[in-house]
Amino acid sequence: MKYSYILLLFFSIPCFLIAQIEQTPRPCANTEGRSDWLKAYQKNPNHYEKGADSTILYVPLSLHNVGTDVGSGYFKNRSLVDALCTLNKDFEQANIQFFVEGPIRTIDNTSYNIHETVLDGAEMMFAENIPNTLNCYIVADPAGACGYNLPYAGIALKKSCADPNDHTWAHEVGHAFKLPHPFLGWEGGVSYDDSIEHDYNDAAPTKVLIDYTYFKDTLIMDTLIIDTVWVELAERSNCHFAADGFCDTAADYLHNRWQCNANGESTRQQTDPTGTRFVSDASLIMSYSSDDCATRFSEEQIAAMRANLFDEKPELLYNQTPLVAIEESPITVFSPFEGEITPAESTYFEWKGVPNATHYVFELSRIAAFSVLHLDTIVEGTSLEVTDLLNEKNYYWRIRPFNTHYFCTSLSERFAFKTGTVSSTQELDALEVQIYPSLLQSDGILTIAFNDETTQARQATIYNINGESVQTQRFVCKNQFQMPLNNLEKGIYFVQLQSEKGSRTERVVVY
Ligand SMILES: [Zn+2]
Repeated sequence: MKYSYILLLFFSIPCFLIAQIEQTPRPCANTEGRSDWLKAYQKNPNHYEKGADSTILYVPLSLHNVGTDVGSGYFKNRSLVDALCTLNKDFEQANIQFFVEGPIRTIDNTSYNIHETVLDGAEMMFAENIPNTLNCYIVADPAGACGYNLPYAGIALKKSCADPNDHTWAHEVGHAFKLPHPFLGWEGGVSYDDSIEHDYNDAAPTKVLIDYTYFKDTLIMDTLIIDTVWVELAERSNCHFAADGFCDTAADYLHNRWQCNANGESTRQQTDPTGTRFVSDASLIMSYSSDDCATRFSEEQIAAMRANLFDEKPELLYNQTPLVAIEESPITVFSPFEGEITPAESTYFEWKGVPNATHYVFELSRIAAFSVLHLDTIVEGTSLEVTDLLNEKNYYWRIRPFNTHYFCTSLSERFAFKTGTVSSTQELDALEVQIYPSLLQSDGILTIAFNDETTQARQATIYNINGESVQTQRFVCKNQFQMPLNNLEKGIYFVQLQSEKGSRTERVVVY
């Protein structure tokens, strides 16, 4: 039975105000009922396409990293890549994987970053959503919760609930694919607004009430929508229509964050309407068990999510060709050299591309532990220029490769440089450095010889006639260094040698 009451909006506001004063965020703000889609699906799940079990479904995400009006308080890019890695690990069992469509967006908006109600969140999503993707907003405070999913708009996720060990993101994506909580109906306790206390030692009622006003498929702002939900029996005989309607998710009435024991069960016992005592299954990501207990979706939940993608969201399945995973390998740095002194007004960073990586998290800090970042950005490609650093200061930098489909990578080691007056702008003369021959074949070898017995970090770069770098090599040596040309096209080139003492450029002709 369903009751719809037309009420003025302000009648529904107090429950959100109550939610605001909670010290720890609610695990999730969702009170979505069993959607019409899920009810139809659960009547006849075999009639829905789900794809072969072994077929991985790739789903595009639009990521919105929300900060303050003055551009601070963003979720760290490395944390975002970590959270994406966890999300894909959580969905490996379902053979569903997520990729990032388009650039990761940053939004400077304090009222989005900390929004009091899910209606404020809906406003943000309506303004910023990218169509045909699953839109995810990383904010400081999503309506007092760790996260929520608005079926008609997108997902909001709290930064502090998106650590590598958190499963909030997977939980909200489960909602987006129409999974309810296994404790569906208990979100507001035995009443829809948490106004009636329930003692779990007492037999539960046969039905509970749920308010899902803001979590319908479409937003109707001035209508309070209350539904009745059957309470699932411990022996699950009514599992087809009680609670979440799945028969492989056990009875669960726990609507606050709860801990599990070593057997992966709730420490709190509950009592079903027949008086049977039971404990809840802590392994389900869609429950409110703590993050160290939750590990999985049930088989019926997985089948429903796959069917939901094919049946209700086919527009998300437009690109099923993933990029290849990235294998861990040490990062080779071309610029700046370790310990190099660079001009504060402009420091150029370049590194050797990691196979299959398309993007890099780039972190620059004055603190060796990177506890405060001077720059936290994502680089597409393998170089960038950073301007306006402080002069005469030590700086540290590191990078982390990823691509749009693969995120489970590590940060590189730490590299260091110092800003200051740069001697390398000084021109070295031919007595100090010789670069020869000046005429050579496309597979020839250049020799760079030094009149200097000290071992130094040096770098040679070959530029074409347009001034574009075509080959760079960094080396640490004394006396001389040999640099093979990698089948350069015929033409005129300039070879520039840079060392801690200065630089020298020679013209060479490749024939
Ligand atoms: Zn939830």
